Amino acid sequence: MTVYSYSRVNTFFTCPAQFKFRYIDRLPSPSPEGVELFMGSRFHEAMEFLYHQVPGRLPTVNEVIQEFDRNWKKEMDRVLQKQRERGFTDPLRIVQPGQALEDFFNKGRLFLENYYHRYTPFDQDRTEGIEMKVTFDLDAKGEYKMQGYIDRLGRDDEGTLWIHDYKTSSRKMSEEDARSEDQLALYQIGLEQHPKFGPKEQVKLLWHFVAFEKDQVTAERNPKEIGWLKEKYVSKIKTIEKAREFPTKTSALCGWCEYLPVCAEGKKAVEARQAKKDRAQEGAVPSAVLNRPSSVAPPPSQAPTFPPPPAVVPTAPVPVPSRKGKRSPVSEDQLRLF
Ligand code: SF4
Repeated sequence: MTVYSYSRVNTFFTCPAQFKFRYIDRLPSPSPEGVELFMGSRFHEAMEFLYHQVPGRLPTVNEVIQEFDRNWKKEMDRVLQKQRERGFTDPLRIVQPGQALEDFFNKGRLFLENYYHRYTPFDQDRTEGIEMKVTFDLDAKGEYKMQGYIDRLGRDDEGTLWIHDYKTSSRKMSEEDARSEDQLALYQIGLEQHPKFGPKEQVKLLWHFVAFEKDQVTAERNPKEIGWLKEKYVSKIKTIEKAREFPTKTSALCGWCEYLPVCAEGKKAVEARQAKKDRAQEGAVPSAVLNRPSSVAPPPSQAPTFPPPPAVVPTAPVPVPSRKGKRSPVSEDQLRLF
């Protein structure tokens, strides 16, 4: 029996062809790892390091950032090795024009520094689990199973469990979208079936969009909504298991798809989008400037050896956005970091 993850299910509905490449053919990626994923993974490792030590010991912001630097270097050695073995042009895939590897390195460090000052001494709740695996049934017979990993599970003073999820993306979900976002709500089912927690727990969902000063987006799901969610995912899995054809479904996401080099439809869609963008920008900025390739990234041999990072100078702590509705007056747009 296949145990599904949120991303496995949603890959099918985003693009069946991508689902087939990844989960049925298990085609080795024809592209290097995406830089966003690489930076996000290093950020998560540093957060794990931080919360593994709190509340026993409060690491300094420098220690947390050094952990990020250490893992970045170690993992960069791995992607460079892969680049040599697979003959990739770049160690990591950078899609956004004008962005370089070092920009993502610096963003990751900045996100950590901001998060640290915003939440120190990290006593908003008590950590109950980090990168905690949950496996759960969607139906009474246990024919449809899913699993996932909770970035961090915390319990506040009132006994409520908070499912924390850390996002390093440059787009922030709205509170309205959070009400229909399924991933963390599925993990809530995992907690209901977990021997340590169970169905009586009060659970809240909390996303941290760490590129924003007002980083928190929260949501809750009541038992009725959880019931509908289970039915929805049983139906989705049935659709996947019945599928015999896996057509391409092009979208703006094709530009970020690791299988783009082997997908003719995706390539056509990306070129058409680019041509449309170029037409719209005609007369403004020359497209050659905007569309310069990711070769602006440091050459592979130099990629992991950035100039020594500056010492982290703690900035003034940013007020913690309260879960009870107090919000910083600073606009999110001003604080978008990329
Ligand atoms: S490039 Fe686009 S159409 Fe092709 S597999 Fe990827 S997401 Fe699907």
